[in-house]
Amino acid sequence: MKVFVSVDMEGVAGIVDWAQCVASGEDYALGRDLLVGEVNAAVTGAIAAGATEIVVNDAHSVMRNLPPERLAGRAAYLSGRFKPLYMMQGLDETFDAIVFLGYHAAMATPGVLSHTYNPRAIADVRLNGVTTGEAGLNALVAQHFGVPVAVVTGDQYVGPEAAPFCPGISAIEVKESISRFAALNRHPEAARTLIEQGVRDALSRLDGLTPPGIAMPGSVEIRFLSPDMAEQATWIKGVRRLDSVTVELAGDEPLELYRSFIAIVYLTRSLVEN
Ligand SMILES: [Zn+2]
Repeated sequence: MKVFVSVDMEGVAGIVDWAQCVASGEDYALGRDLLVGEVNAAVTGAIAAGATEIVVNDAHSVMRNLPPERLAGRAAYLSGRFKPLYMMQGLDETFDAIVFLGYHAAMATPGVLSHTYNPRAIADVRLNGVTTGEAGLNALVAQHFGVPVAVVTGDQYVGPEAAPFCPGISAIEVKESISRFAALNRHPEAARTLIEQGVRDALSRLDGLTPPGIAMPGSVEIRFLSPDMAEQATWIKGVRRLDSVTVELAGDEPLELYRSFIAIVYLTRSLVEN
């Protein structure tokens, strides 16, 4: 069994602030330790379910948050910035299952550190009319390769948000969001136990899981913080302006929709105000 683990950071138990999950933050070392603990719990659970090959794709910020030698199970580590498939880089049709680890809610949801790819550019994203976070967008890539998304971990919002796009997904709640910057966190060891068992159980019954089946032709609607960003997004072929701050891209191919979305994410970075 081949397992793909897409690793974000904001959804890890104990993490409630950017200072814990950006490299320049004063508490980044702590955040990193908490992250590696949960990644290893997922790897250990996957191995217990029969995984023989595991790829860990670091999908957070500069995407080199994990000390490679501390990864359990001799998991391969896909790290570094500029990856064309971003949070899903490394996935292909040879994988049997996907785990979304340390995920957070969409910008429009009051989850811990909620955002959708870029909190300083994107206010809301709707996939086929339904507000989606990163899990739903990333499910477009899973759909292209025909791989089911078995597990998502994070606060109480990430499971319900992923469910419409990832059929049969198991949600593992490691903290309860109080606001965007506060949570009741499970003890790290308790969170790791939950993840290890939850991943093992979900990957033990893969027969019941199907890959995402997001209806195509599909539509991705993006609402930005500024009209300039919406204008800039229309420079990409197939992107249509809906109102001053909203654009829509539509298409038949899930991977093309994802790639156009990522192009917009990269492009609009030039207009972010600090
Ligand atoms: Zn992140």
